[in-house]
Parts: sequence; C-alpha cells; structure tokens
Amino acid sequence: MSAIRRPRHVLILGGTTEARLLAARLADDPALLVTTSLAGRVAAPRLPAGQVRIGGFGGPDGLARWLREHRVDALIDATHPFAETISFNAARAAASAHVPLLALRRPGWVAGPGDRWHSVGSLAAAAELLPSLGRRVFLTTGRMGLAAFAGLDELWFLMRSVDAPEPPCPARMEVLLDRGPFTVEGESELLRRHRIEVVVTKDSGGEATAAKLTAAREAGLPVVVVRRPPVPDGVRVAADPSAALGWLRDTVR
Ligand code: NAP
Repeated sequence: MSAIRRPRHVLILGGTTEARLLAARLADDPALLVTTSLAGRVAAPRLPAGQVRIGGFGGPDGLARWLREHRVDALIDATHPFAETISFNAARAAASAHVPLLALRRPGWVAGPGDRWHSVGSLAAAAELLPSLGRRVFLTTGRMGLAAFAGLDELWFLMRSVDAPEPPCPARMEVLLDRGPFTVEGESELLRRHRIEVVVTKDSGGEATAAKLTAAREAGLPVVVVRRPPVPDGVRVAADPSAALGWLRDTVR
C-alpha cells in the first residue's frame, strides 16, 4: 500500500510577467500547490493562476515563518530585477527555513548599433547626468524613487507609471498612467508628441517595455539606463519560466 503524497507547495514571489507565466504553467499540475505572493503596490494587479496572497511578510523572519507554517517545498523569487529588498529577504528566509530557492530573472537589455546609452548605478546618478543630456525627459523608472529627480526644476518630465505617483516629485511633470506591453509605433509617437530629448529607464529587460529603446534609437535620442542590483550571493538563477520549471521538477521530484 503506498502512502498518498501531499502536493508539493511552491511559493512564487511575483509581480512580474514571468511570475504569471510560471504560475500558469504550474497551476494545472495536481502534484503541486502553487501560491503567488504580491507586494500589494498596484491597486488592480493582474492576478496569476493558482492561489494568491497579498502584502509583505514582515521581513526575512516573517517570510521564513510563512515558509515553515505553510510547508513550502520550493521558493521561486520571480520578483522584478530591481526589487532588491525582497530578493535578499528571500535568500535569508530560504536559508533559515531550509527551503530550496531559485531566482527567476529575465536577462537585461543589451545595447546594439545606434544606441546612445549611458549606464549608471542608481536613480541618483541618473538624475545627476540628466541636465547634460536634455531638458525634456521621458521617465520610465516607476513611481517609486521619484524623489531622486525632484530637485531638477529646470527639466520637464513625462512620467509613465501604472498607478499615480506621490510626492516628492519633479516640479514640472506630466503623468501618463499606462501599463505595457508597448509598441514601437506608440512609443515613437509619444517621443515626438512630447518633444522628448532623453529617456530614463531601469535595465528591466524583457519584451513588454523594450519598445521605448527601439523608438529612442530610431529618433537618435540618448537613454540613461540604470544598472541592476546584484542577485544575492549563492542564489541560483534561471533566465526564463522554462528553466525555472526544469529546476522545480528536479527539486521537488
Ligand atoms: P522591495 O523594495 O524589494 O521590497 C520591499 C518590501 O515589500 C519587502 O521587504 C516586502 O515586505 C514587500 N514585498 C516586495 N515584493 C513582495 C512580494 N512579491 N510579496 C510580498 N511582499 C513583497 O520591492 P519593490 O521594489 O517595492 O517591488 C514591490 C513589488 O513590485 C515586487 O513584488 C516586484 O516584483 C514588483 N515590481 C517592482 C518593480 C521595481 O522597479 N522595483 C517593477 C515592477 C514590479 P516585507 O519585508 O514586509 O516582507
């Protein structure tokens, strides 16, 4: 007589397209129980397949407790490449709760011929560089961290984000509420209509928001690209949901 095995519990730290794609591919597997965790930053998030929980865990200790209490067998950190705190929390919590951890990170963007990219290490460094590159700025770094640009009174900003920003913000700023994916045609039109002279982006990678880079190249505009923070030491990385799936099969088999 064989014992009935409980489904393996997979916790996905989400908030990205890749996290949703992964959850969709795992949700039909009867051998798995899949929970996606969202931070709760976006008012009306796109919900993934499977179970969803929303809100912080209360630091690494809270996450470790959650992993133990919910008998999590594998943790996949599929958060945005710039969500640095939760990724470090995941590494600490996984180690203390003895849960295998994988980081799912889409590759960063790579400059090609004709690109005029300026690579910087932080939003503050981007703000410092901006006045030397142009006066009309398309800012796509998200509504968090706008304070870095708040002192640039001589520049005008078109700021695009999913939800409305909160102060402190640049004094001269128009807000465009929108969510990708975006097209090259749409982005080119936006750059023309607002007479944009420089674009600022994080190196988020992925297809959904890459069109602005093509549009900027075609328009001959400089782009300030904020480099990614590192993945925590020792954490294994998968570049796409298929690779994460392979790791998971090996890990919870
Ligand atoms: P963060 O600075 O790394 O995290 C701050 C705190 O938010 C964490 O300590 C944690 O709170 C909570 N948190 C973050 N992600 C969580 C998740 N998936 N589930 C539960 N709690 C979470 O994160 P962030 O940069 O503000 O990003 C928040 C979320 O938005 C992330 O899930 C990320 O995938 C998504 N996102 C971020 C960006 C970006 O540019 N940063 C862009 C697109 C989407 P506790 O310590 O209380 O657990």
